Amino acid sequence: MAATDTAPRHALVTGGGSGIGAAIAQALVAAGMRVTITGRRPEVLQALAARYPGQMQAVVADVTDEAAIAQAFARAKAGFGPVQVLVNNAGQAHSAPFLKTDAALWQQMLSVNLTGTFLCTQAALPDMLAAKWGRIINVASTAGLVGYAYVAAYVAAKHGVVGLTRALALEVAKKGITVNAVCPGYTETDILRESIANVVAKTGRSVDEARAEFASGNPQGRIVQPEEVADTVLWLSGTGAASVTGQSIAVSGGEVMH
Ligand code: NAP
Repeated sequence: MAATDTAPRHALVTGGGSGIGAAIAQALVAAGMRVTITGRRPEVLQALAARYPGQMQAVVADVTDEAAIAQAFARAKAGFGPVQVLVNNAGQAHSAPFLKTDAALWQQMLSVNLTGTFLCTQAALPDMLAAKWGRIINVASTAGLVGYAYVAAYVAAKHGVVGLTRALALEVAKKGITVNAVCPGYTETDILRESIANVVAKTGRSVDEARAEFASGNPQGRIVQPEEVADTVLWLSGTGAASVTGQSIAVSGGEVMH
């Protein structure tokens, strides 16, 4: 499918079945794109895709499994043609004090958040180079731009995603392909709900107190909504953002200014 303004584009959103990824997938469908959503839970993916017949397809794949990713991209292409917009959104955020961060937790954070982004980008890039057009958008985090206590592995992985974004943006700058990162602050999804539950379990604070603490880090005093992150991704995926590349855009109510 030619990447013209009139042909519907094909976007693939990893972790597209829930949270921020689901909001992104729905925003891209609403903008007229064909969207493949991937993740590990078939029932979650199929429930969302079933709401958009012919416009959204579900493909099961773990982003840490290179062979599964190759198969997933082949299936995605068979359904909707070459991927023109890749949104590397799949991620996990587990917390632990540094000395309680064992090698397994460290490796898991790097594998899902950073290596997953690397593998999916390698799978998508050849077709973008052939088309001389592409958009790669990495959902990093404010944790890709600044440090936070008790999440060293996650922060290291997300800083890695920002580094990958910058390096690849330069490598493909003359090829019609842009590479950017979107860096949400605390956003209303399962990841945040799990973080709140973790604080409640470890500190004895109430859910409301823990929630207020997460919101207080945002100068706007609120939790970011997934649709706000999706709007930024939608803008980066369009032709109007052609000059924007290598950027890491915080969607965090002013929490991070870089
Ligand atoms: P979420 O609802 O838990 O979504 C994470 C998604 O990633 C799920 O759909 C999950 O699907 C998928 N995923 C996790 N591990 C995977 C794996 N190994 N292979 C394939 N898919 C995998 O949380 P979210 O908040 O929307 O997170 C989306 C992204 O935003 C993440 O990269 C996260 O780090 C980032 N982020 C979130 C916040 C926040 O406060 N919520 C803030 C900054 C950045 P399956 O379980 O089906 O695999």
